[in-house]
Amino acid sequence: MELKYTRKNVYKEADGKELEKIYKFAEGYKTFLDSSKTERDASETARKLAEANGFKPFSFSEKLKAGDKRYFVNRGKNIFLVKVGKKDVAKDGIRIMVAHVDSPRLDLKPNPVFEDAGLCYLKTHYYGGIKKYQWTSIPLALHGVVMLRGGKKKEICVGEDENDPIFYITDLLPHLSQEQSQKPLAKAIEGESLNAVIGGLPSVGEEKDEESVKTAVLNLLNKKYGITEVDFQCSELCFVPAGKARDVGFDGALISAYGHDDKVCAYPEMQAIFDSDSDRTVVAVFADKEEVGSNGTTGMQSKVISDVIETIANSFGANPIEVRYNSKCISADVTAGYDPAYSSAFEKRNTTFISCGAAVSKYTGARGKSNSSDASAEYMGFIRDIFEDNGVIWQTGELGAIDMGGGGTVAMYIANLGIDTVDVGVPVLSMHAPYELISKADVYSLYKACLAFCK
Ligand code: MN
Ligand code: MN
Repeated sequence: MELKYTRKNVYKEADGKELEKIYKFAEGYKTFLDSSKTERDASETARKLAEANGFKPFSFSEKLKAGDKRYFVNRGKNIFLVKVGKKDVAKDGIRIMVAHVDSPRLDLKPNPVFEDAGLCYLKTHYYGGIKKYQWTSIPLALHGVVMLRGGKKKEICVGEDENDPIFYITDLLPHLSQEQSQKPLAKAIEGESLNAVIGGLPSVGEEKDEESVKTAVLNLLNKKYGITEVDFQCSELCFVPAGKARDVGFDGALISAYGHDDKVCAYPEMQAIFDSDSDRTVVAVFADKEEVGSNGTTGMQSKVISDVIETIANSFGANPIEVRYNSKCISADVTAGYDPAYSSAFEKRNTTFISCGAAVSKYTGARGKSNSSDASAEYMGFIRDIFEDNGVIWQTGELGAIDMGGGGTVAMYIANLGIDTVDVGVPVLSMHAPYELISKADVYSLYKACLAFCK
């Protein structure tokens, strides 16, 4: 018995074999990340991987049986993976893991195209909590879909292939930034100035056209995708940081990438449902719209998760209410890891640390635990037991010091259904920045935590 608690570092505890597993798991994660920048991309990647792992399309009118593996893609932006076990679903409930696959980014406005001073731009409207100054002068890629008249859908992805062009938002040169530098950080770059350059070549022979660059760009888009300017009004397009996930440090212990929040939890929970040989019924969810409040058809406040649970319950003649009340959930989302460069934002005794394992947050929220689903002592005890019984290195912490700000996750929406839920995730540095930082040790710890939870 250890009388005093000490946080463990996963890398320090790992032997050579474990270290190999950690690094190998990270390779799979990076590949997943590179094809999963938006919720649409991530849902499609997960669908393909689910197919490869023997999962078949789900139907709300199907009678499921033990051994069935199903996926339900909700409007292309949110996916449910269902693995039906032998155990009595009424008595044992369902083990549910929910991560979100939307990340902060720059969406396009409905009428985004304009020309000014010889350049053609797209106007953006930021999605989620961003620091606006971080999005200037970095390479951007454009992802999403455009609906043409008559229901035809065009998928667009430009800026990821090394032969693709990228897109670019300008910043003011330091020489002329005397005024800008005096502004508070949040005001230095305004939302309305986040316009991305998408062209600079005027169309030939149309010298009288005051918007000849815009005309030329629209021509290019029309040739390539068949779209006209009005089609942007029926589109979901966004700019995300271009480029791939990269190892960080001489030892490659860390990974920098766009959208660790929350693909760094989505990937381990998905891999866990694929790899688990549990007798239980397990559901893994990739949610959308978490960064903007979880509303709408693809967010976790929608009824869809209840419908999936009900379909499983009905398959076995079980009472869906009983199934829900006996179910348990891990809300798999990231938390803020301690950053020595900004130590005053954290309370060191109650913060998670990079490389110290799966991060359990009993509650999130802001100020006096406002808007938090506070997991019960009983449920925390349950989680601790299954993690420790299965050799999972884990830690616990709050998101920053009291009254520094705060944040929420989907935990409360699942808990509101009468399902015990706690946040378990990965500590992130520079969260919500275009390129975030995580430790390979923590992604792997979360995978082990999810496997233990399914068991
Ligand atoms: Mn998140
Ligand atoms: Mn977030």
